[in-house]
Amino acid sequence: MASKTTHICTACNSMVIPEKKAPGSSTLELAIWEAALLSALFTFGISFLLALGYSIYRMIKTEKVCPECTSKEIIRLNSPSANKNLAGLHFSKELHYN
Ligand SMILES: [Zn+2]
Repeated sequence: MASKTTHICTACNSMVIPEKKAPGSSTLELAIWEAALLSALFTFGISFLLALGYSIYRMIKTEKVCPECTSKEIIRLNSPSANKNLAGLHFSKELHYN
């Protein structure tokens, strides 16, 4: 277990390295860009702005999700609430094994 986990998922209690998930699709984004660049001259750059808008939308809406259960309920390991979660985990494990 050499990989350093940076977050803890509060949904499945896994120590995880979050995955980034953007809305929409990169294929669609590419298609929009192609169409926008091809038609930029005829639309006076409006299509270009639309494509740019879509890219920005995807960038802003990109969320970190748990790779195990795709939940968005992940918190940084060094945050106070994460420590509380870890303490809870430890406690429940001890209960389990005793
Ligand atoms: Zn999870």
